[in-house]
Amino acid sequence: MQMQEMPLSMQLLVTVINVVIGYSIGSDARKHGRDLRECWLWGLGAFLILILVLPLYLYMRYKVWPREAGSTPGLSRATGTCKYCGVLTEDNPIYCPSCSKQLRGAESVHGKK
Ligand SMILES: [Zn+2]
Repeated sequence: MQMQEMPLSMQLLVTVINVVIGYSIGSDARKHGRDLRECWLWGLGAFLILILVLPLYLYMRYKVWPREAGSTPGLSRATGTCKYCGVLTEDNPIYCPSCSKQLRGAESVHGKK
């Protein structure tokens, strides 16, 4: 098994695919309210070991995160102001409706391991 037999264009293609999938996973994780650092880890992980990280990501995305989101206790403030732009927010949104910055995410997930 000689890796150098793989043409450069093929290696490039594989790299590009990994980058695209890594980026998609990272931004998809963001949409699910994950912490920015975690999204980077998902993206980077997918880029480096796609075959392992992709199934794990899909498992987390469909099985674990919806449960976490569904069981988020209502003790966080339902109404508040965006700490970035100061606009009034309702229903404790993940992203500010005005400036689109992330208002909550990792801090609303309890029970750190
Ligand atoms: Zn804002």
